[in-house]
Amino acid sequence: TDSVGFPLADEAATVNMGKQLATLMEQGAVIYLHGDLGAGKTTLTRGIVQGFGHQGKVKSPTYTLVEPYQLAKADVYHFDLYRLGDPEELEYMGIRDYFSPQAICVVEWPEKGGEFIPTPDLDITLRYEGEARAIAINSLTERGQAIVQQLKS
Ligand code: ADP
Ligand code: MG
Repeated sequence: TDSVGFPLADEAATVNMGKQLATLMEQGAVIYLHGDLGAGKTTLTRGIVQGFGHQGKVKSPTYTLVEPYQLAKADVYHFDLYRLGDPEELEYMGIRDYFSPQAICVVEWPEKGGEFIPTPDLDITLRYEGEARAIAINSLTERGQAIVQQLKS
């Protein structure tokens, strides 16, 4: 595994980080987002989804668990598992079908999903740094490693 980190001075920096990540992702990519409430997970996801061509708003699917975006460049699925009671609920919603080789999957609160969600290519943590934020990006697969390498260069 390899890692890279950046300060994110303001909301626009977080969105731009997401857009940059989108340019480096291939179909089949799985991204985990960790961090306290308000750390910027949904803001980063907005950048990713917009990077794949989405024009409108991005709202965290807190009650529905997943929000699909069928975009020209890829199908992007945004999960927010914060309110997931039992990881087995993911079986009932057919979670496996979302993690296809064509899809891009971004998961907030992946720790709530237990073993029902696949290992991510990138394990990302956002944290508060005063009023601003910082991001740490860890690669867990070769595909993730390629992204981290490009972010470092
Ligand atoms: P989470 O999904 O982690 O709970 P959100 O993205 O919903 O967090 O909310 C993050 C909040 O912090 C938003 O109000 C957003 O405007 C703000 N924010 C995002 N990135 C930054 C940043 N780099 N610096 C300061 N504020 C930020
Ligand atoms: Mg959120």
